[in-house]
Amino acid sequence: MSETEEKTPTNSAVQNLECTYCGKTYNGAELHNTCPACGKVLYYRYDVQAVKERLKRELLPGRVASMWRYKEALPVLWEENIITFGEGWTPLLEAPRLGKKLGMKNLLIKDEGQNPTGSFKARGLGMAVSKARELGAKAVSIPSAGNAGGAVAAYAARAGIAAAVMMPVDAPIINKNETAVTGAQTWLVQGLINDAGRILKANGERKGWFDLSTLKEPYRVEGKKTLGYEIAEQLDWELPDVIIYPTGGGTGLVGMWKAFDEMEQLGWIGSKRPRMVVAQATGCAPIVRAFEEGAEFARPWENAQTNSSGIRVPVAIADYLMLRAVRGSNGTALAVTDEEMMDATKEIASLEGLFPAPEGAATLAVLRHLLAQGWVSPEERVVLFNTGMGQKYPEFMSFDIPVVPADTQFLD
Ligand SMILES: *Cc1c(COP(=O)(O)O)cnc(C)c1O
Ligand SMILES: [Zn+2]
Repeated sequence: MSETEEKTPTNSAVQNLECTYCGKTYNGAELHNTCPACGKVLYYRYDVQAVKERLKRELLPGRVASMWRYKEALPVLWEENIITFGEGWTPLLEAPRLGKKLGMKNLLIKDEGQNPTGSFKARGLGMAVSKARELGAKAVSIPSAGNAGGAVAAYAARAGIAAAVMMPVDAPIINKNETAVTGAQTWLVQGLINDAGRILKANGERKGWFDLSTLKEPYRVEGKKTLGYEIAEQLDWELPDVIIYPTGGGTGLVGMWKAFDEMEQLGWIGSKRPRMVVAQATGCAPIVRAFEEGAEFARPWENAQTNSSGIRVPVAIADYLMLRAVRGSNGTALAVTDEEMMDATKEIASLEGLFPAPEGAATLAVLRHLLAQGWVSPEERVVLFNTGMGQKYPEFMSFDIPVVPADTQFLD
């Protein structure tokens, strides 16, 4: 790193790390994974007074159109260490035609498919690569259902550090290509994401990889929390009534929950919270089951099956944090089938022109159930999360498109 004088501070007000489970605190200027005392998730804490003084809400409209507009409330200390493609600040689109069909007046879609690398993984992993590298990481590894691997590979290439990625052998082909093309060391495992995680971890120390597994380090969630800041800013600091989130490892869900707390401390929002809804697939729904059982933690899901790869996550270290957010907000958790996701994909695309990832489509399928149950009422403001672009999933759906000879004249 060059001389201090040549560097530009971000004015980040980041402080120490705190364990979300046992409360122990750690030095935020050292690389950390999980809590050394209890093995649970670490979170960064901030000097709220300093953020308040340095980041006035009125400054935001003039800021960069990416997640880095909130840099005082993010952990990277030096501008030069920010690795960015312009991730974040995605549109919060009105969905009037879809809303009308459902009898709703206030339906919104946060379109995370417009992020670099085509999914919202760009937020978390752009942050994680930036901060881990700032703290000295020379190489990173990640087990991935698909999109995370592509994002790590892209940010690591841009940062000039090595990346090792392992994903299930049946991950979407686009994810395999986008990872391998960067030169990231890539493997396909004949198993699931948790198998990949175990294998990488066993080799990590010997290889010098910093482990970027979901919430097994405290940096990724800091990128994902910008979802919460953005929704608040885009809705003029009035949070929606309901947020429906396609849930795998849960980083975005718990990240938004963290952002809401931080913004309340900053005086930017009040104590009202959206009801947080976990959307999962019937073939892999560990958080839904734990919610229904009233459990604090989720049991691993056996034989996880869904073509919605981003939410095919049978074990999540942040299970207790997700369940806290869902219960603390009077939210709920619901699973839908892959067929429902396919129908919902076509419905969103045909009515709003937006081609969602199957995970994003799952949120509409869940909304249908919640409307039918009367759990969501038609006048409530609801945000659906489209977490990726449908174009990244060529295997998920196919269409019978008619082929015509070149000399065709009349079409019927
Ligand atoms: C990773 C992923 C998810 C799940 O996100 P978590 O924050 O891990 O719960 C949902 N949708 C897509 C497209 C993903 O890539
Ligand atoms: Zn702990």
